[in-house]
Amino acid sequence: MKRAVCIVGGGAAAVSLLDALQRHGDHYDVTIVEPADTLGPGRAYQADSDSALLNQQAGRMSLRNSEPDHFIKWVRGHDEQFSTAENSEFLPRRLFGQYLNFHAHRTLESLRESGSDVRIIRDVVTSAHEDFGGVWLGTAGGTTFRSDRVVLCTGTGGPVDAYELAKQPGYVHDPYPLRDQLPDVAADRDVLVLGTGLTAVDIALYLLDRGHRGAISMLSRRGVLPAVRSFAAARPLRYLTGDALAAGMSCGRLLRELRNELRAAGFDVAEAARDLGVGEPAHQRLARQVAAGDVPWQPTLIQAAMQSIERLWPLLPARERDRFMRRWHHVFNSLVNPMPPRTAHRLLSAMDAGQLTVHSGVNSVVRDSDGFLATTMSGQVRGDLVVNAIREETGITNIASTALLDGLIGDGAARVHPYGGIDVDPGTNAILDRAGVPSSRLFALGQLTCGVHYYTSSMTMITRRAAMLAGELSPAMAVR
Ligand SMILES: Cc1cc2nc3c(=O)[nH]c(=O)nc-3n(C[C@H](O)[C@H](O)[C@H](O)COP(=O)(O)OP(=O)(O)OC[C@H]3O[C@@H](n4cnc5c(N)ncnc54)[C@H](O)[C@@H]3O)c2cc1C
Repeated sequence: MKRAVCIVGGGAAAVSLLDALQRHGDHYDVTIVEPADTLGPGRAYQADSDSALLNQQAGRMSLRNSEPDHFIKWVRGHDEQFSTAENSEFLPRRLFGQYLNFHAHRTLESLRESGSDVRIIRDVVTSAHEDFGGVWLGTAGGTTFRSDRVVLCTGTGGPVDAYELAKQPGYVHDPYPLRDQLPDVAADRDVLVLGTGLTAVDIALYLLDRGHRGAISMLSRRGVLPAVRSFAAARPLRYLTGDALAAGMSCGRLLRELRNELRAAGFDVAEAARDLGVGEPAHQRLARQVAAGDVPWQPTLIQAAMQSIERLWPLLPARERDRFMRRWHHVFNSLVNPMPPRTAHRLLSAMDAGQLTVHSGVNSVVRDSDGFLATTMSGQVRGDLVVNAIREETGITNIASTALLDGLIGDGAARVHPYGGIDVDPGTNAILDRAGVPSSRLFALGQLTCGVHYYTSSMTMITRRAAMLAGELSPAMAVR
């Protein structure tokens, strides 16, 4: 009998896992459950304005970890407008969604041809109960079925309503897709954007590209914009290597080793530290980074930070993780998700013109008779509209998966991880039950595992875990 595998969710993580399963070569009975009409795009890569760009160069975006140029090759062959696109370009995110959709169907076809059974259920999974015979799943539409293995790929939730503005007219809670959520924003209105991360940058860029004339004020606790992407080549790492990371290290030692990496590659450590310094006012920092162009050390530092955090995070004691979250989380985010240089130039000219401002230390945002009023540590900012870009970071408040996760946690089949999402075994992504025992049948991939893996919000991380998980799901792996 074929092993029954159910993938809950049909976004990028699900497609990457499907691809990895197909290439593993075993025969399965695969079920994908996804409420949307289209498999692949999920939340991040849905059809949207072309101003919503990928935050990675096209040559590094792929559903396959082993083939980083898989996407760009597909783009050149399938979209005439982008037939000469370069590996280094930042392409519209919708193209990546189309690529995922194309490959989802192609992979399902290949699985069918090689003897697997495949079905797609357009629905929301609301329950999962494990017993000796497998996992019984139930959907909102009333379907119930059994599966030998279940992988939760339920993805990133929408933003959070941190200032309880949901009922206020003029408040846009979820900005995606930009072209559907923001078309009615009149060009002369003053807009408050809640957040200064990549989503907030998407919003500002979309408005500016549409010829917005009103003020755009970006607000967050720290007022830190993403760094500007450098195209320099990353140097090979000497200190943060597999062996050194496997032994674990404190945050202090990690910082020392990062400095050693930069020094060994011949970079100016003091200059890099200054550049990372997120205490600098946003306008000044952006102007400096744009003027500096391709800073040579950034790609090496990103590579070192990404590789080491993935290996070290599960090994760090709770005290060290708390310290990291307090002192380094926002620096890490600004560093590893830089914005494309064109975007940086666009934002900088709007800042130079006084149209775009960034404010830190937000205390409150309320609506009064004159519109919206934000109070920050340095004063007050007014706006006619508020567009929300405050990210949900815990991985567990995705509305579509609330019933399913509440049920699993309530039954003791899963437990909340203190740093977000649910607890999984760091080596296998098997979901841990209330007592910390890994399930043989229930797994999670992507944002739901953010507490365990820390950084899950990139295709590089997702595809690496998907390839590993395909091995765990193989019929060769018996129930432990
Ligand atoms: C706006 C945005 C832009 C990003 N841009 C980039 C980028 O440029 N480069 C990069 O490397 N990374 C990027 N990321 C990070 C990462 O690559 C994406 O978050 C990635 O798409 C995550 O895929 P996913 O499948 O885990 O989640 P999602 O794309 O959120 O897909 C989850 C799917 O699960 C479904 N679902 C949820 N609950 C249930 C349920 N109970 N039953 C059935 N289905 C369910 C949802 O309908 C959804 O389709 C971005 C993230 C966001 C949010």
